[in-house]
Amino acid sequence: MNATTNAFQMAQQQFDQVANQLNLDQQVREYLRWPLKEFHFRIPVRMDDDTIHIFNGYRVQHNDAIGPCKGGIRFHPSETIDTVRALATWMTWKCAVANIPLGGGKGGVVVDPATLTNSEKERLCRGYVQQIWREIGPRQDVPAPDVGTTPQMMGWMMDEYSKLAGEYTPGVITGKPVGGGGSLGRTEATGIGVIFNLREAMQKLKIDASKCSAAIQGFGNVAQYAAIGFCELLKGTVISVSYWDRDDHTSYTVSHTKGIDPHFLMSITDQYGSINKDNAKSAGYQIEDANAWLSKSVDVLIPAAIEGQINAETVDLVSEKVRIIAEGANGPTTLEADEQLKQRGVFLVPDFLCNAGGVTVSYFESVQNDMNYYWAKKEVLDRLDEKITTAFQSVFDMYESEKVSMRDAAYMVAINRVVKAMQLRGWI
Ligand code: NAD
Repeated sequence: MNATTNAFQMAQQQFDQVANQLNLDQQVREYLRWPLKEFHFRIPVRMDDDTIHIFNGYRVQHNDAIGPCKGGIRFHPSETIDTVRALATWMTWKCAVANIPLGGGKGGVVVDPATLTNSEKERLCRGYVQQIWREIGPRQDVPAPDVGTTPQMMGWMMDEYSKLAGEYTPGVITGKPVGGGGSLGRTEATGIGVIFNLREAMQKLKIDASKCSAAIQGFGNVAQYAAIGFCELLKGTVISVSYWDRDDHTSYTVSHTKGIDPHFLMSITDQYGSINKDNAKSAGYQIEDANAWLSKSVDVLIPAAIEGQINAETVDLVSEKVRIIAEGANGPTTLEADEQLKQRGVFLVPDFLCNAGGVTVSYFESVQNDMNYYWAKKEVLDRLDEKITTAFQSVFDMYESEKVSMRDAAYMVAINRVVKAMQLRGWI
């Protein structure tokens, strides 16, 4: 996150702008500007050397008017309560815009998971659940993976919850491994959802995807499948991706003038999305500085790493050629940058619409858990396509009818749905 950007302030400012445009009642605004519940807790973990280390954990439940809260658990060294609040708030809007019957939640632990051994990671995951299990559950709040957490970790958390609850409860958490209660298609869902959104955007703007190039920030779960989808479904070319290098404590852009091969790069990338730059160099890739991806002369930018990356200081780097920004990450564009991009006529597919593929297939996973019947991958991805295409269309209709930005249009669709559910339940 950019040092001057607070993600939660950003989430509140975005909401306030649209609340003004919608003339939303002051009491309803108060309801929605802050999360309904927050849990701060400490997680003691016995480390492999027998010392006890205390980790700080959070779970935030922003709003559950439409259904149980839903949202990932992030393991990151610079996690703060405000990041978790922002992400929980965006989850409320994301589930509403995707039209799935869930609310907004998020969790986090202040830790760099790469510094832990496998057994320490397992004890931390189980410790997280021990502290919060009474506040989560298939009908209360359903966590999932996010930055720094994996399907295996979700498997441990589901197991710990099931032991504490006294019954097998796969629906308590999604993003579990396939064969351990997980859904086929969940791994690629967010990145492919970004591509379904891009496909719709390009159709509306009458852009031929096969003639387009893209640069992507990040090379983790979202970025990898967005890169594959851009090359294989849209038949376009990805020029650059980027990643955080743990050893050098900086990020690098990895580029190929003829286009990257996402499958090759995945074969030299670790589980945290860090590319082996020596292997990339030997295969003819250029290793460039952190922001090089942002200044590439491409048609499409896909920020798919962390928050606040396109901001007042970096927005001028964006090339005149860029027509579309598809926000794979949550909150990658600050308000100042957003305004400038709007003035330049860049078409922006906002985060909580663009990356809604993950939570949509997470929802499918919990539906399959409830039925105890599992769908084929094609069925999952076809249903995902239908949900994303419908969500994009509802936001695009609002964008055209209200003559607002795509972000404000997405907020309008989402806020209207949440407010309606609150009215129907008699909350307001
Ligand atoms: P990940 O941990 O798998 O990958 C993150 C990637 O970003 C890695 O390649 C890492 O090296 C890179 N990165 C980190 N800091 C960077 C920096 N400063 N510069 C360049 N690269 C950097 O995470 P992910 O699951 O792919 O999530 C990425 C984003 O998408 C996050 O904002 C997350 O909240 C959001 N998101 C993820 C999902 C999902 O299903 N995974 C769903 C919705 C939204």
